[in-house]
Amino acid sequence: MIKGQVNISGQFHGMEEREHYLVRNPANTEEIVASFPKLKREDIKTAIESAKNAFKPWSTKKPVERSQVLYKASQIIESKAEELATLLTKEEGKPTADSMFEVIRTINLLRFYGTLITQESGQVIPSQDNDTFIFTRREPLGVVGIITPWNFPLSLPAWKIIPALATGNTVVWKPASITPTIGMELVKIFYEAGLPSGVLNYVIGSGNEVGDEIITNEDVDGISFTGSLEVGKDINKKVGNRKRFTRLQLELGGKNAVVLTKNGNINLAIEQVVRSAFGVTGQACTATSRFIVPEDIAETVLNKLIERTKKLVIGNGLDKGTDLGPLASQEQLDKYLYYVELGKKEGAKLVYGGNRLVNEEFKRGYFVEPTIFDQVSPDMRIAKEEIFAPVISVLKYKTLDEAIEIVNGVEYGLVAGIITNDPKEMKAFMENVKVGVVKINKPTIGLEPWVPYGGVKSSGNDVYKEMGVEAINFYTTIKAVYQGY
Ligand code: NAP
Repeated sequence: MIKGQVNISGQFHGMEEREHYLVRNPANTEEIVASFPKLKREDIKTAIESAKNAFKPWSTKKPVERSQVLYKASQIIESKAEELATLLTKEEGKPTADSMFEVIRTINLLRFYGTLITQESGQVIPSQDNDTFIFTRREPLGVVGIITPWNFPLSLPAWKIIPALATGNTVVWKPASITPTIGMELVKIFYEAGLPSGVLNYVIGSGNEVGDEIITNEDVDGISFTGSLEVGKDINKKVGNRKRFTRLQLELGGKNAVVLTKNGNINLAIEQVVRSAFGVTGQACTATSRFIVPEDIAETVLNKLIERTKKLVIGNGLDKGTDLGPLASQEQLDKYLYYVELGKKEGAKLVYGGNRLVNEEFKRGYFVEPTIFDQVSPDMRIAKEEIFAPVISVLKYKTLDEAIEIVNGVEYGLVAGIITNDPKEMKAFMENVKVGVVKINKPTIGLEPWVPYGGVKSSGNDVYKEMGVEAINFYTTIKAVYQGY
């Protein structure tokens, strides 16, 4: 069992005086991965103070010096890639290949922002006066609070922390309580790479106490949160009640749809929908949870979908060949079972899956079957609410306009996909769906770190995008300087 530590002021502490809790492997809950302390509000105040004190020396370092720390961190991660991927799988459950994908993305993010920060600072703007030189400076916000979910416990925090540090901010980071171990390893790597004390504080504990202190503490200058719509709305209210305006980034849930048209390749659609609906056990914000198919080929498509799904291998993420690992927690399992029952009650037809696996091999973990509902109508709750588990609803349409209306008929707006070979359909779809990311003949899951990302409608507050060059807009403010010759 790993002895979990937090980091405040650059020091790793076991915080023996605090209550501890156990982190369990979701594939076998008898296996304890780590034990971590639950911090209290006063600890977070100390962490914020330490980030505040570390701000001046870190923000005044030359960009190339900050870049060197990021590059060094990328090399350390590369040297431990296998070890990190294995730990991530033990803690979160996803197959090791998917964990490795997170490790590689983190390396890419470190190198991308490590380079970008040596290039980007501001703009020169021609003045209307001959004797005036005008330029802008990008300046860091100060102390940034980062709160992250459990489903991508390494690469998702990385895509917030790295641009924050690159641009000279200091950070107080609270990971999800069920996946703190991989985060601790990331923080250790940053300090091993030469991050000065206090620049990245790592705090563990409940959303209600630790998260709340980050959100309400007036010394925090910016907050980036990814998680559920419910918590996002709560944070939005609290940030609005602060004494001063505070920059807030919210990335929330999704109810992503893929439309297959009669001009699309059915087999390609099946491959991509199966991968996006059931990969990482449906626990991706970009997962496909609605498959919208032409009415007159619906039966053929459904049969192919069921046949392909039957071939998926359920198992421990550490075993080679596993397609679906366990759900991440008891809460996730309860949610899955709740929505399966709800779908049946609402009148949808359960055509595949719908059960927890309870035989000897699986009974100690949160394993479930990939699940398909047919005869789903757009007004059913299973077609509107985020389930965040391997459950897909099949809906039928007659015209592309109708399909687009179904795509847009939910409160979320994260990702939408179309499978077609007709460029006119691609264009109509791309222009009319209300989402932050459109995928054409590509799976809804899978993002590239140099591309801006974020949802619209209830999928996020959409003031700033994450990743790509755009991410640094959130972590910096722009000051205009007028200089007379
Ligand atoms: P969650 O319950 O909202 O929790 C997210 C984080 O917020 C956790 O660190 C949690 O801490 C903390 N938290 C909980 N209550 C809080 C409060 N009152 N104040 C401050 N912080 C609080 O979400 P989750 O179950 O971890 O993650 C799944 C959700 O994240 C899904 O809705 C998914 O769509 C969304 N997500 C979105 C994206 C995106 O990019 N749009 C990416 C990934 C996931 P504890 O763990 O201690 O409760």
